[in-house]
Amino acid sequence: MNRFPVLHGIDDLRMESHPIPEVGPNEVLLRMSRVGLCGSDLAMVYRGMLGDLVIQTPMGIGHEASGVVAKCGSAVTHLKPGDRVTIEPGNCCGNCDFCKAGHYNNCVKDNFYTLPMPNPGCIAHYFKHRGDLCHKLPETVSQEEGALMEPFSVAIHACRRSKVTAGTTVLVCGAGPIGLLCLLAARAMGAKSILVTDVRPERLETASKMGADFTMLVGGADPQKEAKRIEEVMGCMPEVTLECTGVEVAFQTAIYATRACGVVVMVGLPAADLKLPLVRAGIREVDIIGVFRFLNCFPIAIDLVARGVVDVKPLITHRFKFEEFNKAFEFFRSGKDGAIKCMVICD
Ligand code: NAD
Ligand code: ZN
Repeated sequence: MNRFPVLHGIDDLRMESHPIPEVGPNEVLLRMSRVGLCGSDLAMVYRGMLGDLVIQTPMGIGHEASGVVAKCGSAVTHLKPGDRVTIEPGNCCGNCDFCKAGHYNNCVKDNFYTLPMPNPGCIAHYFKHRGDLCHKLPETVSQEEGALMEPFSVAIHACRRSKVTAGTTVLVCGAGPIGLLCLLAARAMGAKSILVTDVRPERLETASKMGADFTMLVGGADPQKEAKRIEEVMGCMPEVTLECTGVEVAFQTAIYATRACGVVVMVGLPAADLKLPLVRAGIREVDIIGVFRFLNCFPIAIDLVARGVVDVKPLITHRFKFEEFNKAFEFFRSGKDGAIKCMVICD
């Protein structure tokens, strides 16, 4: 039997047993290893919604994951049992206008995050997934690092969309997991100087350890004054700002802080519409761009970790046993003990 937690309603996760899924020709069955918890999992468990999507229960949970191939469908040729993989969450159709144009992350039929039971989430003993969306991990990438390839891919997509390259000056708003991974991605792509902001000093300490050139404690102040302070510390206005908080005042600061002809990347997803100084962006030709998940980023993420160009490990602060999934969610929600990334050990 397969065992996994099932979300039955708000704050109602229960361990259940279900048959191990059969694999289709293009699918693989994975014995799951590590699953990282993310803010969207918290939103599903404690608010029953994700953005404008109302969760249909019962459903499985978890999507930042690594595993080991247990079985391959007859048409899967690039993997074999025993291979260690990270999963790219998604189920793009391949046929809609967006898929055909190469924007599979915007596929209109992708149902990965809303698959109803009996599909488990990635927090499970066994999970089946499309073979083409399972990426093999090289020797030098651990299962735990593998589970971080999903959020790291978000960061890589944000830096690619905003064309961060050698010499780019970068502001990262928010030193949560996504902001910290944006810091690593921007550095790997050659950013010259990177300033990271947060309202929590301990998160800025982690940002410094992970290679930020400058950190700045913000909060409460007038966003225009904070933008000025950022310019003073960096010695210039940043060309690219990666907004990774989803918080209104941080987004306002991002627009004021970014230099003319620069780019503000909306990585953070606010819970509601925001009031933003758009005229300040418009008259200075500051582009505001969206990013949604990732697009062909997993191979890049894996390669950067495999070659030791980036170290994602400092993000992992806490580990929980499979049976302790409820404790893991409660702990992560509490934000105690400097938790950044909590991992559930599935094997
Ligand atoms: P998080 O909540 O752990 O991190 C946000 C950080 O911002 C925290 O450290 C918080 O202290 C800090 N913060 C709060 N107010 C601030 C302010 N005024 N100035 C600077 N920092 C401030 O979340 P996370 O997991 O790192 O995710 C970040 C955002 O990215 C979320 O909004 C999430 O929904 C979004 N996200 C988007 C995508 C996408 O595809 N676009 C994918 C994953 C996550
Ligand atoms: Zn599609």
